[in-house]
Amino acid sequence: MKMPKDLRTQCPYCNKHTMHEVERVKKGRTSTLTWIARQKKRAKGIGNLGKFSKVPGGDKPTKRVALRYRCTECKKSHQRPCFRASRFELVE
Ligand SMILES: [Zn+2]
Repeated sequence: MKMPKDLRTQCPYCNKHTMHEVERVKKGRTSTLTWIARQKKRAKGIGNLGKFSKVPGGDKPTKRVALRYRCTECKKSHQRPCFRASRFELVE
């Protein structure tokens, strides 16, 4: 899927259509204290890893795309419900 870098859309702060810059939301560093992280740490070692072994079908065909829209007038940004796409790029 191709998406324009700049687009004119509704700004929830200005409450009107303004130019927006589109940027991808970067993936944050995963916490080491979550339940699943501790489970994975425990599963390491000898033997079958159960659900932590590699997925037989491989990776999922589509990935979630999260975008941030920044208004050029008030410089505030907002997000919209993310969607899934196999390939995603921002075009001029
Ligand atoms: Zn705005």
